Amino acid sequence: MMKPAKLVIVVPCYNEEEVLHETTSQLSALLDGMEKDGKISQGNLLYVDDGSKDATWRLIEELSGKNNRVMGLKLAHNVGHQQALWAGLEWAAQSDFDAIVSIDADLQDDVQAIVEMTDKFNQGYEIIYGVRKERKTDTFFKKHTAQMFYKFMSSMGGDVVYNHADFRLMSKRTLQSLVMHPERNLFLRGMVRSLGYRQEYVYYDRKERFAGESKYPLSKMLSFAVDGITSFSIKPLRFITTCGVVFILVAIGIIAYALYSFIAGHVVPGWTSLLVSLWFIGGAILTAIGVIGEYIGKIYKEVKRRPRYFIEKTSNIR
Ligand code: UDP
Ligand code: MG
Repeated sequence: MMKPAKLVIVVPCYNEEEVLHETTSQLSALLDGMEKDGKISQGNLLYVDDGSKDATWRLIEELSGKNNRVMGLKLAHNVGHQQALWAGLEWAAQSDFDAIVSIDADLQDDVQAIVEMTDKFNQGYEIIYGVRKERKTDTFFKKHTAQMFYKFMSSMGGDVVYNHADFRLMSKRTLQSLVMHPERNLFLRGMVRSLGYRQEYVYYDRKERFAGESKYPLSKMLSFAVDGITSFSIKPLRFITTCGVVFILVAIGIIAYALYSFIAGHVVPGWTSLLVSLWFIGGAILTAIGVIGEYIGKIYKEVKRRPRYFIEKTSNIR
C-alpha cells in the first residue's frame, strides 16, 4: 500500500454554464469523502475552459474563489475536446499530483467510479479505464454509430478499449509519457492504450447529461471517427491499393468484352455499361484521392508544428 495520493480531476468545459455548479458540488463531495476515508491525501478539480462563449469562465472564477479545490485554465479559443483535455493533462504532468482523472463536465460518467479507480491506483495499477457497461441512456442512433465505430476501429488495427471514452485515471508518470507525444492529431484513448504500463478497468453505467445539450453533434462525431482511424492506421491507404488492383482486373475483362463487341459489330448497346462504369470508377477515384488527402492533411498539420492551445488566464492555480 502506497501513501495516499494527491488526486486532480481534469474537466474540459465548452459552454457548460448549466452544469458547472452541480458538477462542482458532486465532485467536491466525492473528494471530501475520499479524503476522509484516507484514499487520497488531497483532491482538486481543474476546469479547462475551451474558449466557451457563455458564462463558463466567469463561473469557474467564481467557484474557484469560493472553493479552494477548484482551479481553472482558460484557453484563448475553442480547440476541441481532445486538445482542451490535453491542455489540462499537460499542466497536470508537471504539477505535483500523483494521479490524474479525466472526466466530462456533464457527469454522464459515474463519479463513484473514481473511488474504484483510486482503489486500483492504490493497488499499483497506473492506467485505469472507465468502461461503460451498457448504453441504456444513449439514443438508438448514438449507440449504434458508436458500436460501429469501435468495431471499425479494431478492424482497422486501432487498439481501443471497447466502450471507453475519455474517463480514466492515469498515474503521473504515464501522463508524462503521454505528453511526450508530439503529434497534433490527438486521439487520446488510442494513444493512452499504446503506452503500456499496468492497466485496469472499472465498469459503470453511463447516465444522461443532466443539463445542457451535447457539444458533439453528428458532424463532430464523424470527424472524430475519421480522425481516430486515420491517426492510428494506414489500412485505408492499403485498401485503396487493393481496390486499384481489383479494378485493373475488372478492366481487363471489360477490354476483352469491348474488343469482342467491336468485332461482333454491336457497339452502340454498350453505351449503358460504359456510362455506369465511368461514374463508378470516377467515384472510386475521388474516394481514393479523398482518403489520401485525409492523410496528407494530417501530415500538413503535423509539419506545421503549430501550438496546440494558448492559456489566456488561470484561476487559483498553484
Ligand atoms: N468539449 C470541449 N470542447 C469542445 C466540445 C466539447 O471541451 O469543443 C467538452 C464538453 O464541455 C464536455 C466534453 O467535452 O465536458 C464532452 O462533450 P459532450 O458531453 O457534449 O459530448 P457527448 O457526451 O455528447 O459525446
Ligand atoms: Mg456528454
